Amino acid sequence: MSKFSDYNFKGQKALIRVDFNVPLDKQTFEIKDDTRMRAAIPTIQKILNEGGSVILMSHLGRPKEGPEDKYSLRHLVSHLNELLGFSNNNSVLFADDCIGTDAQQKAATLKPGDVLLLENLRFYKQEEKGDKDFAEKLSKLGDVYVNDAFGTAHRAHASTAVIAQFFPKEKRMFGLLMENEITAAEKVLKKADKPFVAIIGGAKVSDKILILENLLEKATDIIIGGGMAYTFFKAAGGRIGASLCEEERLDTAREIMDKANEKNVCIHLPGDSIIADKFANDANISSAVSTEIPDGWMGLDVGTMGCDLFTNVIHHAKTILWNGPMGVFEMDNFQHGTKTIARAVAEATGKGAFSLVGGGDSVAAVNQFGYADKVSYVSTGGGAMLEFFEGKELPGIAAINA
Ligand code: AMP
Repeated sequence: MSKFSDYNFKGQKALIRVDFNVPLDKQTFEIKDDTRMRAAIPTIQKILNEGGSVILMSHLGRPKEGPEDKYSLRHLVSHLNELLGFSNNNSVLFADDCIGTDAQQKAATLKPGDVLLLENLRFYKQEEKGDKDFAEKLSKLGDVYVNDAFGTAHRAHASTAVIAQFFPKEKRMFGLLMENEITAAEKVLKKADKPFVAIIGGAKVSDKILILENLLEKATDIIIGGGMAYTFFKAAGGRIGASLCEEERLDTAREIMDKANEKNVCIHLPGDSIIADKFANDANISSAVSTEIPDGWMGLDVGTMGCDLFTNVIHHAKTILWNGPMGVFEMDNFQHGTKTIARAVAEATGKGAFSLVGGGDSVAAVNQFGYADKVSYVSTGGGAMLEFFEGKELPGIAAINA
């Protein structure tokens, strides 16, 4: 593979896999959040500045059977023009089909500085199936393949992985966004300065087993919060009332605690909880020791002691990974724990720690509470980042490296 920043794109047609899977308004097709589009602009801009041209390919939504207007990438053209600062006489071109004559002709006649956006890749079933012929057809459109779609790097799809084999090594590379994601993730997983504190939250133990097991090999401390903490309390013989619990994961929780002991990894659970008599913001609210929750009550957030303990552990960290909220942060009355952790991560970062926030809900939380620019890195790839931290090789990364 080549390094994107070292590559000169003059006269080259770069075929870039971007993640333009943005939420659209159902009626007006207006873009509700353009974060993913903005994230790809530096990569596109570098190529254009050097006298190259760009062919963009992406998926959008989950079309079932072929083309559907509501999933057309055409809805993104005018906003892409704005983001690139294009005027009427130099606007983004659009191909109604990602393969076929129209796309080929438009790609063939691109001039330096031009941008062509292809129609939704998932209008073809072959995309998700990782079909080789489909990937080869796409590959013919460009001279160089750039993968900048970290959000889909854990999928072995035609445009994210299979396509790479049709480009010689020096003509395939990661884009700037992808490079940043990989650098941040490797800094945590492979080169973490100690103490390395991992904060894992969210609803279910079952979704986080692999990441916990992998982190037992790397982290100094693991903070476990959110709904999943109660399976651990129950496994240790605690009374957890009506809190979330995965009965079939009690053994897993015990095994994780035993392994942590063997490996000298400190697991921190919230000693107290904010409890409620129903799963609602207007529930009656109280607090309790997390192993003594009365029947009919459920733990929906970390209590005061838990917040203090977690803050203290986080303040001593040199490396921090955060995935998953500490409570039901979507409801005002149960967001204190998640907010406290977001603040502690920001404070530790301010004192020199490297912090990475990855995974849908914790990213939403740092954004919601205004700490996104006070942590070292916020990942754009939920599922992909999770799989990376589970220790899996991501197909989108492996294909470029091969
Ligand atoms: P996940 O997708 O597994 O990271 O879980 C995120 C979800 O977990 C969020 O929607 C939270 O509201 C939910 N959650 C966090 N803490 C709790 C809790 N104590 N009880 C129930 N749900 C929770």
